[in-house]
Amino acid sequence: MHRRTSSLAPWPWAALVLIAAAAPAGADPAAKQLFGVMKTPAALSARAIGSYTRGCLAGGRSLAISGPGWEAMKLQRNRNWGHPRLIEYLQRFATESRDIDGWPGLLIGDLAQPRGGPMLTGHKSHQIGLDADIWYKPKPAHSIGIKERADSSSIMLAEKFGQKVISENWKPGYVKLLKRAASYRETARIFVHPAVKRALCEGAGKDRAWLRRIRPWWLHNYHFHVRLTCPAGVAGCVNQNPPPAGDGCGAQLSHWLKLMASAEKASKIKRKPPKKPRPRRELRLADLPQSCRAVLNTDTASGASGARAAGQPAPVPERRPPDASPALSADAKATMDPNLPWLRGSAASAPKRPAQMPPPARKPGAGTQ
Ligand SMILES: [Zn+2]
Repeated sequence: MHRRTSSLAPWPWAALVLIAAAAPAGADPAAKQLFGVMKTPAALSARAIGSYTRGCLAGGRSLAISGPGWEAMKLQRNRNWGHPRLIEYLQRFATESRDIDGWPGLLIGDLAQPRGGPMLTGHKSHQIGLDADIWYKPKPAHSIGIKERADSSSIMLAEKFGQKVISENWKPGYVKLLKRAASYRETARIFVHPAVKRALCEGAGKDRAWLRRIRPWWLHNYHFHVRLTCPAGVAGCVNQNPPPAGDGCGAQLSHWLKLMASAEKASKIKRKPPKKPRPRRELRLADLPQSCRAVLNTDTASGASGARAAGQPAPVPERRPPDASPALSADAKATMDPNLPWLRGSAASAPKRPAQMPPPARKPGAGTQ
């Protein structure tokens, strides 16, 4: 009896895949069900297609799970994919913040799915491979295993609706870190909690131009969110309008702090439960740029289908692969960047079919950006 029950355990996930893959003609599944089951990138040249909240990613590249100055977290989500512009940005930011600013290293959360697009859980944006979440928690000195990457969480710099950062958790090093993140030419915006913006405004000193790109937003009290501009000359990649002029530390910040105070007040008022939650209209494939159909329909370079196989997620390795270990599991190798020199001649020779990942789980404190 027990055996039978456990053998059925993965069925809801498998069923979802089957629904998405074998939907009858005329069925119109939500785009997140189509993109959310893709576990490998489309073998097309790299292209961010559409806008941050309505688009997809061709030729996605994976961020190595470990590198000089960074570790990728929550690998079970399979969201460590991005446009090469984003991967190169993260590599450079991680190295320079460590070597120049003395930051212990980055813990990097969600980038995008292998083919971008809407996700089954969390995030309205992160669809075109130009967004990345970076934890406020610095990289620990010890080696991080796969399980620890999956189980650990970041630190909170401000209460959900807080007016100020939590003083015990705030360090002056955050000013240098966020300043560096914002100062690269390709940085479009960085989303932080309003209390974090306030602390940055107070700690910035005379050089304040970078603060223009630091934008307050809801729920960014555990991580900050880097958004890059579209690479030059990429047709169909839609930039967001530039932020308003100025450092954003005056009326714009005050406005956000008022919003926080109102939201906190509202959260404390006991309300009657709503009669019927209004269902959110999910994006359909037809809502995305036309090119996203080709992104869905193109196989990976190895010829493997990008669709997640039904059921039976692969076991997640329990132990951390060392940074340059030749004994990495095939699953771990598959999520790594094949262009890294230490992988050449092993996993690098041909794109591998990445591991089947269990369904993504919602991260506590995750924002909707
Ligand atoms: Zn984000």
